[in-house]
This record gives sequence, structure tokens and C-alpha cells, in this order.
Amino acid sequence: MSREDICDACQLVGTLRPNIVWFGEMPFEMERIEAALQRCDLFVSIGTSGAVYPAAGFVSVANACGAESVSLNLEQSDHDGAFDRGEYGPATEVVTEFVEELLAAK
Ligand SMILES: [Zn+2]
Repeated sequence: MSREDICDACQLVGTLRPNIVWFGEMPFEMERIEAALQRCDLFVSIGTSGAVYPAAGFVSVANACGAESVSLNLEQSDHDGAFDRGEYGPATEVVTEFVEELLAAK
């Protein structure tokens, strides 16, 4: 994709963008996210400071709906009090250990 690409729908140049959420934008599919938060029993946040809304509020919704909440992050942040549990270190290590723990508990 480049700035010179032409939009198939309106034929304008320079109006296309990647289908991702940039910093400061609202996440796609907020209704689906809210619905998933309300029915999950485990909420895991990976690699985020937990400071940027609306994503920063997801843990509160999951907690209020009875989910266990876990933060897996490089280091502790000011927002970790919202989580039931936190594991800190490189994602390659803490995510792997957490998944192994989950699988062993089944
Ligand atoms: Zn267009």
C-alpha cells in the first residue's frame, strides 16, 4: 500500500490506510469487545501500560463480570492494582510460562 494507491470504491488517491488501530484511535468492534468482556472468565492483558483508554478500562469490565484478571508485562505499572495477579518479565518468558500453567491446570 502506498500514498499513490487508488480507492476501488471512490477512485480517490491517497485515501487508503492500513486496517489497524493507531495510537489515539478507538478500537474496531467495540460492541464485540464489550460482549466478550462481559462473558469471559479469564482476562489477560499482555504488554501494555494499561494507561490508554478505552482499552485501559477493559479490565474493570471483566472484573465486574466475575473474570479473573492477569497482567503480563515487562514491568509493573501504576495500573496493576486493577488486576488480580501480575507476572513481570519479557513476554517471551512470562506469556510462555502463563500458557504452560493454564494448560497444566486443565
Ligand atoms: Zn474511497
